[in-house]
Amino acid sequence: MAVNTASVEFALNPNANPMPEADRLKAFENLGFGTLFSDHMAVIRWNADRGWHDGEITARAPFAIDPAASVLHYAQEIFEGMKAYRTADGRAVLFRPEENARRFNESARRMAMPEIAEETFLEAIEKLVQIDAKWIPEGEGSLYLRPFMFASEAFLGVRPAKDYIFCVIASPVGPYFKGGAKPITIWSTEKFTRAAPGGTGAAKCGGNYAASLIAQAEAQAQGCDQVVFLDAAEHKWVEELGGMNVFFVMDDGSLVTPPLGGTILPGITRKSLITLARDKGLTVHERPYSFEDWKADAASGKLKEAFACGTAAVVAGIGTVKFPGGAFTINGGETGPVTQTLREALVSIQRGQSNDAHAWVKPISGV
Ligand SMILES: *Cc1c(COP(=O)(O)O)cnc(C)c1O
Repeated sequence: MAVNTASVEFALNPNANPMPEADRLKAFENLGFGTLFSDHMAVIRWNADRGWHDGEITARAPFAIDPAASVLHYAQEIFEGMKAYRTADGRAVLFRPEENARRFNESARRMAMPEIAEETFLEAIEKLVQIDAKWIPEGEGSLYLRPFMFASEAFLGVRPAKDYIFCVIASPVGPYFKGGAKPITIWSTEKFTRAAPGGTGAAKCGGNYAASLIAQAEAQAQGCDQVVFLDAAEHKWVEELGGMNVFFVMDDGSLVTPPLGGTILPGITRKSLITLARDKGLTVHERPYSFEDWKADAASGKLKEAFACGTAAVVAGIGTVKFPGGAFTINGGETGPVTQTLREALVSIQRGQSNDAHAWVKPISGV
């Protein structure tokens, strides 16, 4: 596949009808997740002849795509999720954006889609945040950024498409789980799995989410916030939630998280928390942990805390786990101290409030 790795220029076509400031500020008073969008989007197109071309920052608007566009039939689609934060001293910052750029290309390779130069990916993000900087909420909110790519070729044959659109949209968001630090309840599904060895579990593709929605619906029908998936081969090992990785805090102070191995999404929050925990002198084991051990360790007190993590929700304590035929609680159903400490350590770096020893925070110039 011809890959244009040269960086792409972005033409600037500002929105002639941006949302009036009064309306935006009114909307900011009650932010949910992913319901409100900024004035602009970044777009770049790819085809087999020209590679990446026609980059622009333009008014957010619908795409006109052919009904035969291959994404609509064979689901060649990948995405990323990241946030721009407004720090107390007024800067606009991103958190480890180059990690998102790298992972996006890993997802692209798995889905037989063209890679994009990391600098082009990052420039699209930066230019969009610059033009929509007033859309970054202050305080607890942030501007959620959604880079994605899909196959736009009108063709029903089965092979990798020859045309793609890369786009970034932005959505101001409040806290992911309403009610803040309240621990979540999760449902362990017996019927469904999320990812199999050799499959697409490590790629951030829409198809993984489509396949997980029925289990998420099952979780909600059971009164739970989220679903946790076990491995597909043995249905024994804890893997992750529908869109979040998972950690366990043991009574000796160590942490356990399932190892990456192709069936788990390599979360940037996961990776960052492993580093922060080790910085604090905690031992972190990336090792398989079975659902049976989880249940037994919660009962015996060997397990002290459990939490889920990802960009959208950051860190969320797991209070109760339900499964077909039973339920158990962790730390009396409350968010534990290690969970809270790690959450605060990460959030304070993301918001520019503490020493950024690993240089994870990237300020955006000019805003
Ligand atoms: C995006 C995602 C995560 C979390 O990744 P972060 O980089 O921490 O946001 C975890 N699991 C799945 C399935 C995901 O899609």
